[in-house]
Amino acid sequence: MIKGREIKENNSSFPFTYRDDLRWVKSQFLKFEIFQFPNPYLCLVENQKKDIRKLSLTELEEFFVAQGEKKFRAKQVYEWLWNKSLKNFDDMSNLSLSTRELLKNHFSINHIQVDLMQHSSDGTIKNAVKLFDDKIVESVLIPTTKRITACVSSQVGCSLDCNFCATARLKRMRNLTPGEIYDQVVAIKEEAETYFQRPLTNIVFMGMGEPLLNYANVIEAIDKITAPEGLGMAPRRITLSTVGIPKMIRKMADDDVKFNLAISLHSAINETRSRLMPINDTNPLEDLGDALKHWYHKTKRKVTYEYVIWEGVNDDERHARALAKFCKIIPSKVNIIQYNPIDEGEFRQAKPEAVELYVRILESQGIIAKVRKSRGQDIDAACGQLANKNEVAQLSSI
Ligand code: SAH
Repeated sequence: MIKGREIKENNSSFPFTYRDDLRWVKSQFLKFEIFQFPNPYLCLVENQKKDIRKLSLTELEEFFVAQGEKKFRAKQVYEWLWNKSLKNFDDMSNLSLSTRELLKNHFSINHIQVDLMQHSSDGTIKNAVKLFDDKIVESVLIPTTKRITACVSSQVGCSLDCNFCATARLKRMRNLTPGEIYDQVVAIKEEAETYFQRPLTNIVFMGMGEPLLNYANVIEAIDKITAPEGLGMAPRRITLSTVGIPKMIRKMADDDVKFNLAISLHSAINETRSRLMPINDTNPLEDLGDALKHWYHKTKRKVTYEYVIWEGVNDDERHARALAKFCKIIPSKVNIIQYNPIDEGEFRQAKPEAVELYVRILESQGIIAKVRKSRGQDIDAACGQLANKNEVAQLSSI
């Protein structure tokens, strides 16, 4: 039977984002064990075996010892699970048949499946990834001459309502587990080798969801991605992109994380930013700036601001100057990203002259500003387009 602790860990460190999810209701019933009578929900959960990748190496060792097996088996299994990404126990060839049976009786491996792979004319690949509960998330491989980048999701849907983003339309359904995040990277790593004969070089958390609202699982996934017994990737090749939740930015700095931070800024004027991103109402730019000072003080790493310029929204000199001022709070650079239309809605990409105005103002103040081309637009794989046309994801919500 799944215990309350696991259910809590499995979900959010921010319960307020979770209450819209019927699973929360289910977990409350389970936590307080108020079901004293046969209940179909409970049976379903009881019959589900525990996902073995939720165990740490120590917990796996404890399991083997409790079962009268040798402790070192845990290390072998752990390597199969993470380093070699095995999807079933039968392939663990250095284990005896009885040990494999033991594992099968107690655990499942909730591996993702790439359900649909789409290739863009510019080389970008988008994976629709099916999770063990049939939910769908998307991840993207972005090839350039120098890099192959994996853009991965951290949640099914998103709770944040940024009103220019397709994922926001899906609402948040659940957090991804560390294994599910890790598997997306492995799938893209394999595709990089198969389709480009090149290694995966970078990872960005810019897919579906807000990584800082699934902090524990994202950190655990990154630990596995960077560990020698995982994928052994350097943390400086990983970038976490966030709407900018001050409390969590402080926490990351205190946790001494080694990866890079990108903030989806889009405006350095509170009024405009709140219109675009409701999270700014309760977490205004002043608080964000203070948290970023703390980040820089602790990590000494500059931050990247992601910024879309929309016609009639933030395409004037006042907004450009406000951005330049915000950029001075700590060392930073700006990625001006192209708007990827998600419907016939209110937003339109600004004219090239507005983009030039921004670049001129930023550069005149010594701030590095790069204008990023959009990738994979023809398959809805560009920033903010994930889940745009993916009806499956909507249908598979609870
Ligand atoms: N929640 C995280 C990561 C997901 S979005 C965050 O907000 O950073 C990844 C990036 O795409 C963010 O910078 C986001 O603001 C941007 N984005 C969202 N919708 C977009 C759109 N329609 N066009 C261009 N960029 C978009």
